[in-house]
Amino acid sequence: MKETVSPRIEQAVKLAKEAHEGQFRKTGEPYIVHPLAVKKILEEWHMDEDTIIAGILHDTVEDTKLTLDDIRKEFGESVSFLVDGVTKISTARTGMRDIDTYLPETKDNFLRLMIALGDDIRVLIIKLADRLHNLRTLSALPPDKQRKIAKETLEVFAPLADRLNMGRLRVEMSDLAFKYVDKKRFDYLKDLIEKHNKSAEKTLKKIEQEVGEALKKEKIKFSLSGRVKSAYSLHKKLAKHNQNMGEIYDLTALRVIVDDITDCYLTLGVVHALYTPMGGRIKDYIAMPKQNGYQSLHTTVITKDKKVVEFQIRTKEMHEFAEHGLAASFYYNEQKVTENYKKGKIEHLPTNLLWITELQMTAAKLREGKKVDLKKLKLNLFADKIFVYTPKGDIIDLPDGALPLDFAYRLHSEIGDHVIGVKINGKMSNLNKKLEQGDIVEILTSKNQTPKSSWLEKIFTSHARQKLNRTLNNARSNRQPSSRSRRKKDKKK
Ligand code: MN
Repeated sequence: MKETVSPRIEQAVKLAKEAHEGQFRKTGEPYIVHPLAVKKILEEWHMDEDTIIAGILHDTVEDTKLTLDDIRKEFGESVSFLVDGVTKISTARTGMRDIDTYLPETKDNFLRLMIALGDDIRVLIIKLADRLHNLRTLSALPPDKQRKIAKETLEVFAPLADRLNMGRLRVEMSDLAFKYVDKKRFDYLKDLIEKHNKSAEKTLKKIEQEVGEALKKEKIKFSLSGRVKSAYSLHKKLAKHNQNMGEIYDLTALRVIVDDITDCYLTLGVVHALYTPMGGRIKDYIAMPKQNGYQSLHTTVITKDKKVVEFQIRTKEMHEFAEHGLAASFYYNEQKVTENYKKGKIEHLPTNLLWITELQMTAAKLREGKKVDLKKLKLNLFADKIFVYTPKGDIIDLPDGALPLDFAYRLHSEIGDHVIGVKINGKMSNLNKKLEQGDIVEILTSKNQTPKSSWLEKIFTSHARQKLNRTLNNARSNRQPSSRSRRKKDKKK
């Protein structure tokens, strides 16, 4: 790798050092350690110079005497624009200093956030680098803040990394965060994965050898490596399959990286000639890429000694893109993409990231004061999820379509069981009201309230339905065939 020392980057480091002089992080280290770590992450992602400089300076405007004007004079419009974007996101957050949680409490703030992101997607990349380093050093914070940041990471940042096809970032972020959200579960799954890997070691070696020989015979150039499954993705998969380990087929996976697309399909043939493919588990993400642009061939096979192994076959470019996503496309099209950003043109983004274009056009409309279907905009970012808030600013994610009782049961079944009403954005509302993105939801409860079976019609999530049903069943079985229920029966007659 060529090491060019850029005088502009050196100047930015010098300026940031001076500006953060005397400030310290919760870890006890001088503050400058953080912007320098963000710089390093952005360099690893091969981001352009302006983005790296903005990364170095990302906390200066908010936390030091340095102003946007200073930055503009020294580094130009583009850098100051990026720093401004990152700062805007920070000020839109819920006002807890030191906590790097920016999720806004109100729709207005959400709008500001979207506009900041929509202007230049590089703002988001700096924010992701910032969050990654904060996660890596999360142990220095008190437990409640750890949990909050970790949760927000799993709910917002990791899915965003996924939307940008930044696979490596998604895995690192979600495992770091998962550890703080549910340490027991994390340890359990991590241990399970390690044990599994140990027991699969021999099988894998043998397969690597067999596949390697066969590929050499076909004169296909390749590199082979094992893929380690992340604890969080296993956790999510198990949840989808009713905790049934027998249905997880990709615990052992091998990655084959070859030169071109033809070799990908040839390799698939070689693998299927050696082992028995499992029906319905061949996926051609090359012909049909995932929504985030991910490309690869996947197949699950059963080996001669009855072991289940997944193969992922792809080219180097596909691999690079699967690991670094949007950042990789900056690397490959650096000139083109950054130049076009400066000119306000965005058509040179890779087609698989066109949703970003959509986001930017929406932001432009908002700036012009035009009406925009906000719901549509957010669906693009968070698929079918909505984020609502407690009056204290805790973020609760729910599927789109959720109702107040879903929210109440998500907080706690004790709260769900005693609901007497709901305030949405400060106004009394009713239990049939569908929750919207960004709503602030306050549940009113009373000790004397008991759950009604009619509530089942006012529930959207299976989670809340389960909890309500449990309470209803308990109430039924605890109740003696009382005079009251007998009287009811009599009435029916
Ligand atoms: Mn920061």
